Amino acid sequence: MINYEKEGMVFDVQSFSLHDGPGIRTIIFLKGCPLKCLWCANPEGQNPLKEIRYHKTKCTECLDCIKSCPKDAIRSDYDSKGKLIIKFDKHKCINCVNLNCKDACFDDALKVTGKSMTVDEIIKIIKRDMPYYRNKGGITLSGGDPTYQHEFALEILKACKEEYIHTTIESAMFLKPSIVKEFINLTDLFLIDIKHMNSTRHKDLTGVPNNLILENISTISKNKPVVIRVPIIPGLNDDDENIKETAKFSLENKIERINILPYHKLGQGKYEQLGMKYKIPNIEPPSLNKMNHIKDIIESIGITCVIG
Ligand code: SF4
Ligand code: SF4
Repeated sequence: MINYEKEGMVFDVQSFSLHDGPGIRTIIFLKGCPLKCLWCANPEGQNPLKEIRYHKTKCTECLDCIKSCPKDAIRSDYDSKGKLIIKFDKHKCINCVNLNCKDACFDDALKVTGKSMTVDEIIKIIKRDMPYYRNKGGITLSGGDPTYQHEFALEILKACKEEYIHTTIESAMFLKPSIVKEFINLTDLFLIDIKHMNSTRHKDLTGVPNNLILENISTISKNKPVVIRVPIIPGLNDDDENIKETAKFSLENKIERINILPYHKLGQGKYEQLGMKYKIPNIEPPSLNKMNHIKDIIESIGITCVIG
């Protein structure tokens, strides 16, 4: 039985994507993530609740939002250039149902990230996109990390299987092995991140150790196709030893392909809008030479490596 009325928090749905799985795909981005990677390019995916994003270039400094907040969670401040800006106190903000502050802003400087949607609403979008999938495409659950809302994610996957739609999940798979089994039954392709092979280092970079992730990858790869994805963050996880360990682990688990994803700073502006601190402002993207060097190491161990 599929619970089509099950609700989850979604922050984006992208149709006609050519990334994150084979063919043309619909990507559903679910809010919430058990990891907090220092380089996260989708910080709006970390918090499982609705959030306000503040666009300071649109703010006319009317201060109506401050007056509207029942929790005294908003105050004015000045940025480094002396411009008046609005700051949200995350501890006081209760993401009130009415989002009074957003309604108070007539200048569109406050936007909401996150929308509650039912499985039925998601499936209607997917069915609209289905003619474009042809034989190859399908849906990809992304985030955040879609396993954070695993009950909602599993209902979407079940509903897709009813329609014979190809399903992919993009995740770190940091979750209980008993739930992993349910994902294995409903998912055709797993795109799984390995951020670091050393568990202590993994915890420093993401907030959680990697033991459970590696154990889950071993289980999944015995049952379904897996592509490993490694974000390449200069100085944090791009040393030869870590890359070799990642490739050897993949080989041992009969995984045939690793995608290496160069670090970029495109998500940095979103941190300011969400009132979050970007923790690695001084790291620059890796050079093409460095990416090719990493690709060579992985391929020398016998795994196909794709940049991007
Ligand atoms: S209501 Fe909108 S325009 Fe006015 S101060 Fe708040 S964010 Fe700025
Ligand atoms: S969402 Fe509600 S509680 Fe939070 S800042 Fe806006 S008005 Fe205040």
